[in-house]
Amino acid sequence: MTDTLINVDLATPATENPLVHNRWHPDIPMACWVKPGDDFIVETYDWTAGAIADNDDASDVRDVDLSTVHYLSGPVGVKGAEAGDLLVVELLDIGMKEEAPWGFNGFFSKQNGGGFLTEHFPYAQKSIWDFHGMFTTSRHVPGVKFAGLIHPGLIGCLPSHELLASWNERELALIATDPERVPPLANPPVAGTAHMGKMTGADRDKAAAEAARTVPPREHGGNCDIKDLSRGSQVYFPVYVKDAGLSVGDLHFSQGDGEITFCGAIEMAGGWVHMKVELIKGGMEKYGIKNPIFKPSPITPNYQDYLIFEGISVDETGTQHYLDVNVAYRQACLNAINYMTKFGYTPAQAYSILGVAPVQGHVSGVVDIPNSCATLWLPAEIFEFDIHPGADGPVKHIAGGVDIPIAYDK
Ligand code: ZN
Repeated sequence: MTDTLINVDLATPATENPLVHNRWHPDIPMACWVKPGDDFIVETYDWTAGAIADNDDASDVRDVDLSTVHYLSGPVGVKGAEAGDLLVVELLDIGMKEEAPWGFNGFFSKQNGGGFLTEHFPYAQKSIWDFHGMFTTSRHVPGVKFAGLIHPGLIGCLPSHELLASWNERELALIATDPERVPPLANPPVAGTAHMGKMTGADRDKAAAEAARTVPPREHGGNCDIKDLSRGSQVYFPVYVKDAGLSVGDLHFSQGDGEITFCGAIEMAGGWVHMKVELIKGGMEKYGIKNPIFKPSPITPNYQDYLIFEGISVDETGTQHYLDVNVAYRQACLNAINYMTKFGYTPAQAYSILGVAPVQGHVSGVVDIPNSCATLWLPAEIFEFDIHPGADGPVKHIAGGVDIPIAYDK
């Protein structure tokens, strides 16, 4: 039987569990040990470790302290790993903890992190998604049902001291360009809410003051939020420190490309990851690898009928931008939301669908000056009605009365 090396008790605060941490720092002690060729299981909290409840009140999303996230299980020490190696991680399987067959999707308040469409959805909202085996539905978003594409939002190895210093230098320089911006341009280290795993005392305090927050993806992978890095994938991670130090968390039952709602996917209330590790000695230089690469799973939801929305780099006010893919993808998303409202969805329900369903985002063109073109692929089969345009439509299939709970700023 495969060993479970890290257990989490969802009823106990993550801060009391020395086998999890919420910062990146090379000196965080290994939580457990494996050797190349081993397979093992680690359990995970949701990324907020229980701050968001299964109810119809979004005030917890409004009030969440984002300096406490993400709670990661690890670091797992891999015997024999050295800086410059590649750590090969096979995601053999991923699942939910039996006592937590649900997840949440939220929009943060613009005052507390925001999201991709925060100018259009400035207040905290949340929807709850129930898991039925491999499928999910929501009492807050009727008319859709889809299969999960379960993946870790966040996985990677510990940075070296040198790499950590470069992260802090470049991110603090960005913040300094507009330090009062709401939401902020990046998140600096915050010592008070850092959970440094097994570290205690003066060592902990020194490391916590410089440890990197877990929000952005970086060279090591980290919070990449790639829906296709799902169970069955094989990932090749750069190793920066002796014993590698692999950590994982932020499990998503499903997510659309871009994780546009920021809180973000369907965040699984509790889960587990079954992994196998191998090493490629000196693999970073041999293969010229700076960021992780991976092979996708042979098993993914089989949606083939898409309605594809185009967006160009002309923003909501009609202002022309130069080849700005971010603006173009935002327009594609807004176009899809507007379309879905014609079938009876509220804008918030439609936004949530784009955050959680297996929608694809594509960079379609980046050379035709002055407009880049992005596309958002909405799988038509997830809807319990016909979502296509036709001579007699659109028909309002979603009756009023149900919406996603909202919590206005205090
Ligand atoms: Zn997440």
